[in-house]
Amino acid sequence: MNLKRFASQKKIAIFSENNTLTNAVGIFVITTLFYFFGAALRLVDELSLFWPLNAVLAAVFVRNPFLNRPLYYFLCYSAMIVYDAFTASWGWMSIVINFSNMVFIITVAKLLLRYSSQQSENNWAINAFNIFHFSLIGALLCSLVGAVGSIDNINDYAKLIPLYADWVSEQFSTGVLMLPCLLSAKWPDWERLPPFRLSRLYPLLGIVISLFASVIIGGAGSLAFPLPALIWCAIRYPLAITALVTLLTGATEIILVASSVINIHADHTLLVGQMFSARLGIATIAICPLIVSVSVDAINQLIKQTALRADFDYLTGVYSRSGLFEKLKKEGRLLGGKDRPFLCVMLLDIDFFKRINDNYGHECGDIVLTSFALKLRQTVGQKELVARMGGEEFVVVVSVGDEAQGYELAEMVRKSIELNSFRYQQESLFITVSVGLATAKLTHRPVVDIFNELIHEADRNLYTSKRNGRNQTSATAADTAEMASSFQSVP
Ligand code: GH3
Ligand code: MG
Ligand code: MG
Repeated sequence: MNLKRFASQKKIAIFSENNTLTNAVGIFVITTLFYFFGAALRLVDELSLFWPLNAVLAAVFVRNPFLNRPLYYFLCYSAMIVYDAFTASWGWMSIVINFSNMVFIITVAKLLLRYSSQQSENNWAINAFNIFHFSLIGALLCSLVGAVGSIDNINDYAKLIPLYADWVSEQFSTGVLMLPCLLSAKWPDWERLPPFRLSRLYPLLGIVISLFASVIIGGAGSLAFPLPALIWCAIRYPLAITALVTLLTGATEIILVASSVINIHADHTLLVGQMFSARLGIATIAICPLIVSVSVDAINQLIKQTALRADFDYLTGVYSRSGLFEKLKKEGRLLGGKDRPFLCVMLLDIDFFKRINDNYGHECGDIVLTSFALKLRQTVGQKELVARMGGEEFVVVVSVGDEAQGYELAEMVRKSIELNSFRYQQESLFITVSVGLATAKLTHRPVVDIFNELIHEADRNLYTSKRNGRNQTSATAADTAEMASSFQSVP
């Protein structure tokens, strides 16, 4: 997971870098709201296992790094104390217990922020894994304070260990389950959502079935039953959805274990130690789909980048030779139509291009190539296929009404290049281009096969243009005279 990316994601616009007052009010309100929410959960037996406030606030501080100032931490702490002052009569215990919350929030936020700024952007899996052990460090530290703060009698050491275990497992599991979800949450991009298909729900169905199996079969191993379905989610869904599904599954498991619906022990009595173990186990399982999800995400990005690099020419932005072949293979059948039944391949080679490199340098040559490609695209139209075949050789693939139309377009390109001046530093450079043309009727044969034949023919015709003095268009001998005369008759 890339924490830097989170910072640039579209956020709920509560906080801004320059507005201290709004930030202060925002922190105070969010703390109070989630304190209230946590307190409300405490009233329902099954839900009293969760204290989401700490993970929520740690996520707020990570997603808005500019909030990491003593002022906002203090406001956060104050909001907790004020809430307790109005709703409970804990006295000094409130100060200690809320301090323990702050220990978790600050430790996890600081560690995640510090580590994410050091990590390479590509190391997503490590960043995701950090959530796991930073939550553990945060839980171990805050529970020291929390457990001591929760016992009435400081000499009651016997209670301290189970209390500590309870705090650690609660803070750790809530952190690991909630943080990935909170850190990767973003507004869905409705327009880019793939069309709904029932099969997209199968991984979710897998989770429901595996949870049922956990209830029916029981035993310690049952906690791991949803893992394959969670990994299925990680492969099929985006990170944010995987994190949400993992959170809901983990929370459901914790509730089912606590209420003995899932029996992890044969004698059906749930000891505190078993709950501790179950929570740690569930948190440990929860990190696996997350790692799979970020890894799949990274692989997909890499595939996209590599495909982009291979399909487009890095210098000019037009298709590369291989990109053109891919495009023709995939979408070639879309070319043509009733009024454009011919495929025309136009091979263009800049005349005496070597001289530009020799006289003005390679950098100038690159600029001329880029400007040439731009001018070419503008002249033939942005929708037509333009590719760089290598060096200073380009190809245009268009469907046309007849052979003369292809010739007309080639001449239009040739003249537009001849008349255009390319700028380099203070100088205006003029170039010309030679064109070789080949046209054939589009049939039921694959377009890429027709193209392969035409490109050879176009190459031969290009050679003719060069040999005859350059800056001209040549088509296959039989057609040239006819097309040239028909083109000249066009006003
Ligand atoms: P002709 O009219 O016969 O085509 O002559 P020409 O000089 O254009 O042809 P030639 O094939 O001899 O030279 C092509 C030159 O293009 C040689 C090479 O240095 C240059 N070239 C190829 N790729 C690039 C590139 O990416 N950038 C730059 N600046 N030059 C390139
Ligand atoms: Mg050339
Ligand atoms: Mg050449």
